[in-house]
Amino acid sequence: MDEYEVIIGLEIHVELLTKTKMFCSCLTKFGGSPNTYICPVCVGFPGVLPVINKKAIELAIKTGIAFNSNISKFCRFARKNYFYPDLPKNYQISQYQEPIATGGYLEIDGKKINFKRIHLEEDAGKLLHPEGAGYSYVDFNRSGIPLLEIVTEPDIKSPEEGEKFLEKLKQILEYLEISDCNMEEGSLRCDANISIRKKGEKELGVKTEVKNMNSFKSVRKALLYESKRQIEILKRGEKIVQETRLWNEKEEITESMRTKEEAHDYRYFPEPDLVPIEINNEWIEEIKNQIKELPDERKERFKKDYGLSDYDSSILISHKGIADYFEICVKLYKKPKIIANWIMGELLAQIKGKILKADDIPLKPPHLIEILKMIDEGKITGSIGKEIFKESYQTGISPIEIVNKKNLIQIQDENLLEKVVEEVLKENEKAVSDWKKGKEQAVAFLVGQVMRKTKGKANPNLAKEILIKYLKNLK
Ligand SMILES: [Zn+2]
Repeated sequence: MDEYEVIIGLEIHVELLTKTKMFCSCLTKFGGSPNTYICPVCVGFPGVLPVINKKAIELAIKTGIAFNSNISKFCRFARKNYFYPDLPKNYQISQYQEPIATGGYLEIDGKKINFKRIHLEEDAGKLLHPEGAGYSYVDFNRSGIPLLEIVTEPDIKSPEEGEKFLEKLKQILEYLEISDCNMEEGSLRCDANISIRKKGEKELGVKTEVKNMNSFKSVRKALLYESKRQIEILKRGEKIVQETRLWNEKEEITESMRTKEEAHDYRYFPEPDLVPIEINNEWIEEIKNQIKELPDERKERFKKDYGLSDYDSSILISHKGIADYFEICVKLYKKPKIIANWIMGELLAQIKGKILKADDIPLKPPHLIEILKMIDEGKITGSIGKEIFKESYQTGISPIEIVNKKNLIQIQDENLLEKVVEEVLKENEKAVSDWKKGKEQAVAFLVGQVMRKTKGKANPNLAKEILIKYLKNLK
């Protein structure tokens, strides 16, 4: 692989978070019964007229500003002519020579990945192929949802860099609140152009386009597979065929879908049913003012304001919902490091990678704080706290209620603990003799036995203290 260089450009499609579709007033909801959010405009009845959704234009401008793109003063929609069963008009309204923004970049690890353009279009419907049925269904709910396309220059030099770029892009789009960026639901989709050249060469090699990657992991895997495939072809002295290939998630390979000969000629022309859009500086300024703190700024602020490490801050800001949740908690209880630890450990384990807004996290901030306060006040042990966390997260019952109902208050009573210690010492003669021989670890084991007998409720420090006192008396 060393003598070759991988060159990758990405095309990212993002469904915008508008209430209604790009050119009609149908809702953009995901998951409704098929063909319930549709009207004559988005299913392409003859004679209907589209009307531009202003909010979608604003979100596109917002994205352009955030990535330092040039916002066009004048832009226009164009008809992209092609037939597909989920595209009832036989053309898609998109942008061609006059996109809403050009240029711009996103920096990863100090390197700029440049953008070619950002443009707006409408999404197509969705085909469903029931297995073995011999026919297909078409659902137009998605048809006409505003779609933002971001096209990068071929600046990405490895599959890992491609994955990193996409992760950071998604993070920023989430912070801009322009999309929920849910790859599983298809609100963020990514295609890649990939080619190989010998190191030191200037010309780009023949590229293939890879589609159908549905997660960050599959983007990295598909790019890795495709770059290796191309290198092997070149090593055999053969030529790469310019074609579109589909990522097969199950078999983890890319497969040929169509070659260049079959590629479409879209016959673009300016959309006659829509007026061109003029974007003046005041409008751009107004949108610029709506952009709040972006992830990198927030990370720096977390380090400065809360004294958190670079690592902790990066994890907390990686999802906007988590960062918001953290800040709500810190307002309630000024122990940022402890709160950060619980969020990174217990909360992320429960969320399991699902993107949630702070409000949608089932364990409410006051409940997390209840747990932390009970631990700090010595009412419960840390390990009981973790159990309560899980239960409260899953059931919504308040931690205090759980503690009272299950009688989980920490045992601080010395007399009670002394009795347990006596029992433990009697039952674990081997550990006791180990300790006598100088094995310090035996104490930890014995404390563990005390904790087990008290179902985790003993105050561990007190238990250890009493244990050592007893052991010394035995000598
Ligand atoms: Zn509609």
